[in-house]
Amino acid sequence: MLLPTDFAKCILCLDNPPTSKEHVFPESIGGQFKAKILCESCNNNRAAQIAVGIQKDIWYLNALTKLQEVLPDLYKRTTFKYATRTPEGIVIKSSVKNGIHKVATIESDDGIIVADEKNTAIIIKGILSAKGLPESEIDSWAQKSGQIPANTSIQVPADIVVKKQEMPMLVPEIQNNGTCESASILIGYEFLSLLVGNIIYDTYFNPIRKYLQTGQPSTIFSIGVSQNTNPDTYHSRHQIDFVQEKERLIITINFLGASVYKITLSGFVWKIKDICFIEDIRQKKSLIALSHDDARKGNIHDISTLLGDDSQSNSATLYQA
Ligand SMILES: [Zn+2]
Repeated sequence: MLLPTDFAKCILCLDNPPTSKEHVFPESIGGQFKAKILCESCNNNRAAQIAVGIQKDIWYLNALTKLQEVLPDLYKRTTFKYATRTPEGIVIKSSVKNGIHKVATIESDDGIIVADEKNTAIIIKGILSAKGLPESEIDSWAQKSGQIPANTSIQVPADIVVKKQEMPMLVPEIQNNGTCESASILIGYEFLSLLVGNIIYDTYFNPIRKYLQTGQPSTIFSIGVSQNTNPDTYHSRHQIDFVQEKERLIITINFLGASVYKITLSGFVWKIKDICFIEDIRQKKSLIALSHDDARKGNIHDISTLLGDDSQSNSATLYQA
């Protein structure tokens, strides 16, 4: 069996030829394995947008925090978003990268600029220098802001009021429901194309492409999410499994052993019964086991030993109900 990695047409728009090799598990989450499957436009627009979704998966982020010693590079380049409310109800957002909190400056409804107490002087300097004030005056206002207590305001020139806000405890911000269904479906669909080759262009898959391009739900697949809350079982790998069950294909995507997405594709019969890909982030290896039995016995290959450019090599049968 060979995995085709060089497709003639983009598997998402079916329009343009793929121009370069793209990461199948996004690089932003430690993916290394690449294939030539998307055109430049789909990769830069839709796929990049969808990939960002993984960093909203609260369980993935949680696991990455627990694994920061094991995966220091990935941890350092991931941005964690936090949010909180002040007692007055003002929403404060911050992002943390490489352990450094960066609080966004907010303007409250009554026009007051709310600044993190630790950065108030710097923020005042920025505002006044944008207004063109002389440097000595700017420094003097920055100094004054250092002398006022936290949670009080200071009126600076140009009718600007800055509040020196004591930051409440910041908690991870959960956007939407904190999961990433569309990213998982994209990853599952990309790996599936490597398994089935040219048959990925069949109209049967149109609803998946439509979902990925417009978000419109489809009847040919469903997706469920589960989370593993036991940090002792988190690991530095992503894994994707394909299992054929009668006329359904079950695709399971597991991020760091923490967040699991199960995609059920109905009306699809494929000659290979089960297969599993492993992206080992720590070892920087992309691996494949040709059955779960093989995976259990440790019969796992480097994916590069199975790559070919014949995209017609793996025939699949579409189940016609
Ligand atoms: Zn495209």
